[in-house]
Amino acid sequence: MKPSRNFDLAVVGAGIVGLAHALAAARRGQRVIIFERSAQAVGASVRNFGLLWPVGQPAGLRHDRAMRSREIWSEVGAAAGLFLDPSGSLHLAYQAEEWALLQEFAASPLGSSFGRMLLTPKETIARSAAVELTGLRGALWSPTEATVDPREAIAALPAWLHATYGVTLQFGTTVRSVALPQLQTTAGVWQADRVVVCSGQDFETLYPECFQREPITRCKLQMLRTPPQPDQWPLGPALCAGLTLTHYDSFKSCASLAAVVARARTDYPFHMAQGIHVLLSQTAKGELTVGDSHEYGLTLSPFDREDINGAILRYLKTFAQAPDLSIAERWHGIYPKMTDARSELILKPQPGVMIVNGLGGAGMTMSFALAEETLRDF
Ligand SMILES: Cc1cc2nc3c(=O)[nH]c(=O)nc-3n(C[C@H](O)[C@H](O)[C@H](O)COP(=O)(O)OP(=O)(O)OC[C@H]3O[C@@H](n4cnc5c(N)ncnc54)[C@H](O)[C@@H]3O)c2cc1C
Repeated sequence: MKPSRNFDLAVVGAGIVGLAHALAAARRGQRVIIFERSAQAVGASVRNFGLLWPVGQPAGLRHDRAMRSREIWSEVGAAAGLFLDPSGSLHLAYQAEEWALLQEFAASPLGSSFGRMLLTPKETIARSAAVELTGLRGALWSPTEATVDPREAIAALPAWLHATYGVTLQFGTTVRSVALPQLQTTAGVWQADRVVVCSGQDFETLYPECFQREPITRCKLQMLRTPPQPDQWPLGPALCAGLTLTHYDSFKSCASLAAVVARARTDYPFHMAQGIHVLLSQTAKGELTVGDSHEYGLTLSPFDREDINGAILRYLKTFAQAPDLSIAERWHGIYPKMTDARSELILKPQPGVMIVNGLGGAGMTMSFALAEETLRDF
């Protein structure tokens, strides 16, 4: 029997945003098909740290969304047998300004809830052998962060969606155009009642005029990975330090952020100019993922810069140590980012079609819950 070419929902793109929409629709009992242009998704969703990072989201809807997504990741991770390390995070403070900011944040409703708390240097190293003790003033401990392995998860989730919910997978197929109920693809014509377009940084193939009208750009990030650490050495909590405080919106309401930014501009002008802040996470195989830098623009250099990689590693060594910090892999990833205050782009260019894009550096953290919300109104 020929497989059905009629679906309730077609999802374009098998990155985390597309997979999250496929899951949310399948859980509502819909017949879902996922189209992915490549044989396996190789976009932003496999190039990231795999950090589920609620602590970076401001209080309210965005933080709630991050926490709900984390809950879904736990359910899906357990059901699909995925690596998910719930070890939390440590924000480390070495400068007086950074410590003042962490104290201010920890006194706020967001910074004092969910088990978040300040730690002394001694308490900090008791939680992580990777922390550099020299000059450490203290840390913010947050138990809400978790790490998945993006290469493993994004490769495994489509097959799990197929096996668990009967989601049809049409990989190696580009969707060329949509005129509902038809989708024109490189594998012929398919039919669906509705379509969600989760095409990541490809603004040119589907609805290019919609992307041109929106304040959306691209961001290129350089990343590094060590070999697996010897003897199954565990990183424990994901680590970051002062430069990260200048990056996430959760700290933007703190008056003491301005002093941290000023100090960082003085101490780390190159890092600040290249948008470098450094996070450290660990993969299922025990490798350490280290990054990143931020370069913005619709057209980005295809070439990676060793001075940026060097600056990332130099900063890493100010706050972290590990048995093997040699570099086994280097790459860059690109995500779309809104240049206005929005944390994502949701467009409905024609009845039955929804574009979901522009999640910036938080797609792994936010997508599962966002998909539940967007499909509720679609
Ligand atoms: C280096 C880096 C580090 C990051 N770290 C984190 C992190 O730790 N935590 C976090 O929460 N977020 C992180 N992010 C952000 C996160 O990775 C992104 O927000 C997220 O992956 C975006 O997912 P996406 O599905 O929109 O895009 P993508 O993963 O790029 O997927 C889009 C897919 O659509 C397919 N496609 C496009 N057009 C078509 C078409 N016409 N037909 C068929 N298929 C099509 C593409 O082939 C692609 O596979 C990071 C991003 C980068 C780059």
